[in-house]
Amino acid sequence: MISRAFVTLVGAGPGDPELLTLRGLRALQEAEVVLFDYLANPAFLQHCPQAETIYVGKKGYSEYIKQPQINELMVQKAQEGGGRRVVRLKGGDPFVFGRGGEELAACAEAGIPFEVVSGVTSAIAAPAYAGIPLTYRGLARSFAVLTGSTQEGRAHFESLASVDTLVLLMSVTHLREITGDLIAAGRSPDLPAAVIEWGSLPRQRVAVGTLSSIAAEVEAQGLQAPAVTVVGEVVGLREKLDWFVPPAEPLAGKVVAVTRTRDHASGLSALLRRQGASVIEVPLIRFAPPSDPSGVQARLQGLNGTGWLALTSGQAVTALFERLQSAGLDARHLSGVKIAAVGPSTAQSLLAHGLRADFVPSKAGARYLAAELPHTAGKVLHLTSQQAEDELQAGLAARGVGYERLEVYRTESADLSPLQRQQLASADVVTLASGSAARHLATLAGTALRVAVMGPQTADAARRAGFEQITLAPEATLEGLAQAAAWAVNPSNRLTV
Ligand code: SAH
Repeated sequence: MISRAFVTLVGAGPGDPELLTLRGLRALQEAEVVLFDYLANPAFLQHCPQAETIYVGKKGYSEYIKQPQINELMVQKAQEGGGRRVVRLKGGDPFVFGRGGEELAACAEAGIPFEVVSGVTSAIAAPAYAGIPLTYRGLARSFAVLTGSTQEGRAHFESLASVDTLVLLMSVTHLREITGDLIAAGRSPDLPAAVIEWGSLPRQRVAVGTLSSIAAEVEAQGLQAPAVTVVGEVVGLREKLDWFVPPAEPLAGKVVAVTRTRDHASGLSALLRRQGASVIEVPLIRFAPPSDPSGVQARLQGLNGTGWLALTSGQAVTALFERLQSAGLDARHLSGVKIAAVGPSTAQSLLAHGLRADFVPSKAGARYLAAELPHTAGKVLHLTSQQAEDELQAGLAARGVGYERLEVYRTESADLSPLQRQQLASADVVTLASGSAARHLATLAGTALRVAVMGPQTADAARRAGFEQITLAPEATLEGLAQAAAWAVNPSNRLTV
């Protein structure tokens, strides 16, 4: 069988998602696997929802991954299952200091065919977004692109004496040394210089000075990598040609509705507000007493044989104490049983009632609770609602631990007030953090709304519920969801990593 393995090395451009080439876009749309970098804006991943996406950058999301491992992973992914189409997405142009050449050499050695899609390099675009052309009639007829990193060996500035404009990548950390060396090599201390941080993105910042002052200027402003340094008379053109006005806040003037099902959404609301949004919080469910309150009380009264009480929401804690109180009992009744909380916020609710959880898993989630709960005699009594998901039960069953579910409260669809309905209808985007939120929202407010969703499963649920305008978060975190909201209201909102 002929292998379909194919690798496309794509330059993603400097950051502005619209600076991706049409060819790069098509490669992403057709990709089965995408390996992406720190400098490749995660906004691009919305072009390839079908693909397996793997972050292989050396900063940010995951642990450090070394170049040989990236090469190996790329080859392995291309060869998997009869061959797959792999896109390797890199910031800027893949052949400008990106080690793209080395990655293709690894493909060549493994016999995997490949192609290169050039990208807009930050060496040219970052100065351009600061209003600095690298050449200009009468001022500059040549430019050179250098690395300021010592790892790759510093360039000999003397040999570049006849080059008019110098562009230095990876240069902020050693800027003092670099500018000193340039002066020592004969450049005038008064030569204009600029440093552009996060060029072409909303968070772009620019420092301007001369060879002798720029390092201090950069330190004063606190500019950091990634940044491009430009040295030469052309920097002076910025006074006339500066054009790029970064949008102030991605959600300025927008209304975002945050839907709540179980736990509080205040973290998300705060994040959204910081980005300029007006936030309305809309509860999608409300809590009701259990269908059989006296049965619950009877069960709680006889806790013999129960090893653990497992609480998987703050509401379960509230409900537990309501039931104890109705039975004329208090916290002392629980002294003989161990108590497990699904995560820190549930543990916090327990503390508010004077109980310290005996166990909280390493990561919040029923799955982790099921896997990590210390095994003791007696079964686990799960205090939950009628809508409990099966994860805890299944996980415990796999370990042979006895499980019993007790419905201590019910969740029901909330009734929206006319005002809440009106607010929802006027929202620019509604955030959804779970599949059940998507279903509730569809029932309560219809599916004509624009939604931003937490992860691929929520996106599927939203699609099945009937929503059509769905924006997927680049990662399943509150930050990711806030970013998705920003995209949803304005596709040209560029993401920051
Ligand atoms: N292949 C990339 C460069 C990779 S080396 C390209 O063609 O742009 C990484 C360096 O690129 C960073 O240290 C920084 O100097 C520069 N860089 C990349 N994106 C940048 C951006 N948006 N703004 C400023 N500098 C950037």
